[in-house]
Amino acid sequence: MSGASFILAINIFIAALFALSFFIVALSTKSRRIATSFSFAYGFGIAYLIFEFLLPIHVLPTYAPRLAYVGGFTAFLGATICIFVGIAERYRQPIPARFLVLLVICSVVANYTGYDLERESLARMMAYQAPYALMQALSAWAVFAAKRRQPVDWALMGIFTLGAVQFVSKPFVAGWTGGPGDTAQDYVATVYAMYSQSLGAVLQVAVGLIMLLMLLRDMLVELTTRSETDMLSELYNRRGFEDRVATQMMHARSLERAASLVMADLDAFKSINDSYGHDVGDSVIMAFAALLRDATPSHGIAARMGGEEFAIYLPDTNLGAARLFAEAVRVKFGTLAIESLPQGRFCTASFGVAESMPGESYADLRRRADAALYAAKRGGRDLVAVSELPFDQMPVHPLATTTISRSA
Ligand code: GH3
Ligand code: MG
Ligand code: MG
Repeated sequence: MSGASFILAINIFIAALFALSFFIVALSTKSRRIATSFSFAYGFGIAYLIFEFLLPIHVLPTYAPRLAYVGGFTAFLGATICIFVGIAERYRQPIPARFLVLLVICSVVANYTGYDLERESLARMMAYQAPYALMQALSAWAVFAAKRRQPVDWALMGIFTLGAVQFVSKPFVAGWTGGPGDTAQDYVATVYAMYSQSLGAVLQVAVGLIMLLMLLRDMLVELTTRSETDMLSELYNRRGFEDRVATQMMHARSLERAASLVMADLDAFKSINDSYGHDVGDSVIMAFAALLRDATPSHGIAARMGGEEFAIYLPDTNLGAARLFAEAVRVKFGTLAIESLPQGRFCTASFGVAESMPGESYADLRRRADAALYAAKRGGRDLVAVSELPFDQMPVHPLATTTISRSA
């Protein structure tokens, strides 16, 4: 077995490993179609390598080498197309299906007829390599066009660009290294074959690893998002909220910027559940969440803390502005016609507002906002109450520390 055949055998093994890995990933993630595309790509890669193995065999009938040549080409083109399709899907770029079909037809015909040309001729080699280069360039383009610029995205752009350059440079490398041999049998013993197969091995491992990394990153992002999101309201849950607020409060403190916390709780919600059922209750929670999402400024953080209780963190917002915010939400919600409720039946919510004081912890800020909310409930509901004293100076009865507001 020559050096090149040996590397060829290793390449088949590597391709099989990646085909299997992507298949397993496809079974266990949301990015099923992407991983399946990649699995198919490596499957095509295996087919290509088997054709490469067949090519130099003497005992085959005379028409066989041409078929193996075109078969190998088509299989590898299929692999590069599958990679492109997966990448385009991942980066939400259009897939030019007609162009791809045309490319396959034209390049297969070109290679079938080009088989009769001199093995070293630039036209024959380019007909073989250029379509691969094109598909790699398209993959690089799909990542580039998506404008995501995280390390994995750069790595993908880099490896696809390198792949494209590698394919177009192959005919020239063949010239410098003494050519691809006079026959398919000679090919496997050439320096060029060694170069081609070794680089092929390195590239397929690099591309495979980076694509796996990309899917892994997506899975991690999805898991994190899910663990920080409340599924019913699609707002942050308590954990996502507190993680973000902790960072924001540190930031606000270092810059000595104002920030406020608004706590909200739906009024007499139990009676809604009791009168109309749990599903209607859920739809009221969703309606309030949607209203909050619209009302919260883009730099604010809104969350469902549990049950029918919500929190909104407002950076760069003092007590007066936060109170106006809460007042606006209160009025809008109190007059909102919710589809699942009988006509004329409205819901209300109560709000507690507190502005962060110098050196105050999140826990203390939260306690003050909760106390204000409690005061709003005690004051009769459908109210906004604000907390104006630091937590440690608050009298035992929270109502005394708050100002109740209800706009006309
Ligand atoms: P108040 O005005 O004092 O806030 O009265 P309330 O009835 O709203 O408060 P209470 O805490 O007594 O009741 C809250 C109810 O919210 C009880 C619970 O069954 C209901 N609840 C909690 N989570 C959900 C949910 O996800 N969906 C629905 N439909 N109901 C929920
Ligand atoms: Mg309630
Ligand atoms: Mg409650």
